[in-house]
Amino acid sequence: MSATPLLPRVQLTQRVRFEAAHRLVSPRLDLEQNLQVYGKCARPGGHGHNYEVEVTLRGPLDPTTGMLMGRKEFREAVERAVVEPCDHRNLNDVVSEITTGENLARIFFEWVARELPPHLEIMRLRVYETPRNVFEAYGGDPPTTP
Ligand SMILES: [Zn+2]
Repeated sequence: MSATPLLPRVQLTQRVRFEAAHRLVSPRLDLEQNLQVYGKCARPGGHGHNYEVEVTLRGPLDPTTGMLMGRKEFREAVERAVVEPCDHRNLNDVVSEITTGENLARIFFEWVARELPPHLEIMRLRVYETPRNVFEAYGGDPPTTP
C-alpha cells in the first residue's frame, strides 16, 4: 500500500469541427498500389470530410476558478491550432505527411500542445474522420510516485 494520497484525475474535453479535402497517397507506392492500400481514398482529385477533433485535457484544478482551463481559452487554443490551418483547405497542402487519420491525430496533438499552458497536458486527442472512423493519440502517463 502506498502512503501517497490518491488525487482524483480531472479532465476537460472540447470538440471542434472543420471541413477539409484530402487524398491518401503514399509517395512510396504507384497509383495502382495506392488504390489497393487506400481504396477510394486514393482516387485522384481527392475527397472531403467533415472532421471533428476532440481534445481531452488533464491537469491540476485552479483553486480560484474550480476549472482546469477557461472554456473560451481552451476552445480558442484548439481552433487556433487545428481549425485555423485546416478549415476549407486540402490537408495534403497543410501537412507534409500522408493525411491518414493516424497521422492527423499525432500532428494535431503536437499543434494543440503548443497552444496550451505548460502545466496542462493532453490526455487524448481524437480525430473523427467520419462518425465511424475515429483515430486517437495519447499523451504520456504522468510520473508515478512509489
Ligand atoms: Zn478520406
